[in-house]
Amino acid sequence: MNKVMNGDKLAAAMERFRTGIEALFAGGRVEEFLRFAASFHHYSFSNTLLIFIQRPAATCVAGLRKWNEMGRWVRKGEKGIAILAPVLVKKKFTVIDETTNTEREEEREVLVGFKWVYVFDVAQTEGKPLPRLVEHVTGESHADLFDRLAAASPVPVRLGDTGAANGYFDKLRNEIVVSPHLPGNMRIKTLLHEIAHAVAHGRDGEYRDDAYSMGEVVAEGAAFLAAAQLGLDTAEYSLGYVASWGKDLKAILAAGEKMMRVARQIIERVEKTLVRQQVA
Ligand SMILES: [Zn+2]
Repeated sequence: MNKVMNGDKLAAAMERFRTGIEALFAGGRVEEFLRFAASFHHYSFSNTLLIFIQRPAATCVAGLRKWNEMGRWVRKGEKGIAILAPVLVKKKFTVIDETTNTEREEEREVLVGFKWVYVFDVAQTEGKPLPRLVEHVTGESHADLFDRLAAASPVPVRLGDTGAANGYFDKLRNEIVVSPHLPGNMRIKTLLHEIAHAVAHGRDGEYRDDAYSMGEVVAEGAAFLAAAQLGLDTAEYSLGYVASWGKDLKAILAAGEKMMRVARQIIERVEKTLVRQQVA
């Protein structure tokens, strides 16, 4: 079944995907899904949805070969979870070198379609215990975590007067200001929200042209996903933002993909500061 899908099959797959998402949002399972998505930040939003629809109790998935490399085996009779993988083909292109004005051939990878690949949840496997990844971040005090996040921020962070807001990201001054009057968890959540803005909507941000409402959904969603990775549950503050998505599938997919990408960038920044601190 590992074949490149033709147009019809892909359309059928997308249809199955679409009805799955619609059921998810119509059934009020958004919160459950976002909690789930928080632990799948290495997968695309679409594939995370596919995994959730097929196996909502999954915690950590990988392909057969990857499990075997980690010293684990998939139990007999276990059914794989189908996700979509891009099919890339190497193609030769003729390019013109402008400095010498000559033609040369160049090989590039081109996306020609998608194919189903199968992954398995850790609960479907047995063998060597799994290594733990972000354990070192959880269990810290709020003050430590706030400082660590500030160190990982792409722009300087300070506590100061924020008026009626909890915090803000100032694009012109290129800085984040957070209210000193917020309690610990809320202060960290606010900082994550503003870091998400700085990453996504700053001068070089990938999503700097987002409309205001989209920007807020992405920042709050990314803050929630990153916080969950750090062992912090901000659901009570964050999930109101996404409750209004239900009707617009396009907006769900666009915002979902963006917030996962931004959350991933934040986590990578935090992990890098950890490495720096360990080396120093
Ligand atoms: Zn905001």
